[in-house]
Amino acid sequence: MLVSPDLSSLVDVAEVSNGKFGPEPRRVFDAWDDFSTWFASASIDFDSIGEPLIHEELGPPSPEPRQVFAIGLNYRDHADEAKLEYPTSPPTFTKWVGSFTGPVGNLILPAATVDWEAELVVVIGRHARQVAAQDAWSYVAGLTVGQDFSERALQLTGPAPQFSLGKSYPGFAPQGPWLVTIDEVAEPNNLGIECKINGETVQKSSTDRLIFSVPNLIETLSSVVPLMPGDVIFTGTPAGVGGARKPPRFLKSGDVIETTIEGIGGLRQTCVPAH
Ligand code: ZN
Repeated sequence: MLVSPDLSSLVDVAEVSNGKFGPEPRRVFDAWDDFSTWFASASIDFDSIGEPLIHEELGPPSPEPRQVFAIGLNYRDHADEAKLEYPTSPPTFTKWVGSFTGPVGNLILPAATVDWEAELVVVIGRHARQVAAQDAWSYVAGLTVGQDFSERALQLTGPAPQFSLGKSYPGFAPQGPWLVTIDEVAEPNNLGIECKINGETVQKSSTDRLIFSVPNLIETLSSVVPLMPGDVIFTGTPAGVGGARKPPRFLKSGDVIETTIEGIGGLRQTCVPAH
């Protein structure tokens, strides 16, 4: 779907492109360069063919990525609160696609130790192999807002903690509300990011404080594994998570989590019990 400039309505990409692109989002990402060229000269009459944009009905911008990367300890203040050293290469795990969901909805709490992590999310738009940082932005389809919800007990279980499973319960990777292309963002390396719980600010930072910037992440990841169109990168969270607090604070039923990034938009999840 394409969002109207005033963010009030949607049109189906497959419909307005006469079947050239879509209908599955992955097919749009696979043809991202052609799609961008087509879109630049397309005239779309949202007023006559658009349908109302309802946030509760939106899914994640890239719902079926081939690969999902998530980066830990990518803000110094978050490494400080976790009492861990600053990384010299990006600590990388995954959030499995079964955890993906749209920007607004309920978050089912599977345990009493679920934590929040506001994150900038990058979606890849071109096959990327051994890309240099200075070229990296041209491989990005766009940016969106994400939450890396984390079940801390499972995440930290075992002699060598494995992050991915504890971060992949259903609904643990909400993203959206839409994908914003880089040309629409004033300073893609410097975006305010904030998380509120029940109206109280718990995280507030800017992506210019990332230890590994978006271009650095693309350079490092693509030096190991080719990145593919539609791939998703969760870029890490700033300080203010609940597990690092004294005493620790975790999400409880009824909590409302609002996550926003400057120039992009916001997510809203309402916590509900598992049973
Ligand atoms: Zn995270």
